[in-house]
Amino acid sequence: MKDGIHPKYGKTVIKCACGETFESGSVKDNLHVDVCSKCHPFYTGKQKLVDTGGRVDKFKKRMAQK
Ligand SMILES: [Zn+2]
Repeated sequence: MKDGIHPKYGKTVIKCACGETFESGSVKDNLHVDVCSKCHPFYTGKQKLVDTGGRVDKFKKRMAQK
Protein backbone atom coordinates (compact mmCIF):
# COMPACT_ATOMS: atom_id res chain seq x y z
CA MET A 1 0.00 0.00 0.00
CA LYS A 2 1.15 3.53 -0.73
CA ASP A 3 1.31 6.14 1.99
CA GLY A 4 -0.95 9.16 1.89
CA ILE A 5 -3.89 7.66 0.04
CA HIS A 6 -5.76 6.51 3.10
CA PRO A 7 -7.57 8.77 5.57
CA LYS A 8 -6.12 9.08 9.03
CA TYR A 9 -7.41 6.25 11.13
CA GLY A 10 -6.88 6.61 14.84
CA LYS A 11 -8.53 6.11 18.17
CA THR A 12 -11.70 8.03 18.78
CA VAL A 13 -13.84 8.48 21.86
CA ILE A 14 -17.45 7.89 21.00
CA LYS A 15 -20.03 9.29 23.39
CA CYS A 16 -23.53 7.91 23.51
CA ALA A 17 -26.72 9.69 24.51
CA CYS A 18 -27.08 7.21 27.37
CA GLY A 19 -23.80 8.48 28.85
CA GLU A 20 -21.72 5.54 27.78
CA THR A 21 -18.37 6.29 26.26
CA PHE A 22 -16.12 3.90 24.47
CA GLU A 23 -13.11 3.98 22.25
CA SER A 24 -13.14 2.94 18.67
CA GLY A 25 -11.17 3.36 15.54
CA SER A 26 -12.49 6.06 13.29
CA VAL A 27 -11.44 8.70 10.84
CA LYS A 28 -13.38 11.28 12.85
CA ASP A 29 -12.07 12.90 16.01
CA ASN A 30 -15.16 12.78 18.16
CA LEU A 31 -18.45 11.05 17.65
CA HIS A 32 -21.78 11.38 19.36
CA VAL A 33 -24.33 8.66 18.91
CA ASP A 34 -27.89 8.18 20.09
CA VAL A 35 -27.50 4.52 20.82
CA CYS A 36 -24.64 2.19 21.51
CA SER A 37 -24.19 -1.49 22.13
CA LYS A 38 -25.06 -0.90 25.79
CA CYS A 39 -28.47 0.67 25.22
CA HIS A 40 -29.53 -0.23 21.71
CA PRO A 41 -32.71 -2.33 21.79
CA PHE A 42 -31.22 -4.64 19.23
CA TYR A 43 -28.45 -5.58 21.63
CA THR A 44 -30.25 -5.29 24.95
CA GLY A 45 -33.54 -6.77 23.81
CA LYS A 46 -35.21 -4.19 26.01
CA GLN A 47 -36.64 -0.77 25.58
CA LYS A 48 -34.31 2.15 25.24
CA LEU A 49 -33.30 3.84 28.48
CA VAL A 50 -34.48 1.16 30.82
CA ASP A 51 -34.39 2.62 34.29
CA THR A 52 -32.13 0.56 36.48
CA GLY A 53 -32.06 1.89 40.00
CA GLY A 54 -33.03 5.43 39.09
CA ARG A 55 -30.01 6.06 36.94
CA VAL A 56 -32.13 7.53 34.19
CA ASP A 57 -33.90 9.87 36.61
CA LYS A 58 -30.57 11.10 37.92
CA PHE A 59 -29.40 11.64 34.39
CA LYS A 60 -32.51 13.63 33.48
CA LYS A 61 -32.16 15.80 36.59
CA ARG A 62 -28.56 16.48 35.75
CA MET A 63 -29.50 17.50 32.24
CA ALA A 64 -32.33 19.72 33.51
CA GLN A 65 -29.93 21.69 35.69
CA LYS A 66 -27.99 22.91 32.71
ZN1 LIG B 1 -25.77 4.04 24.75
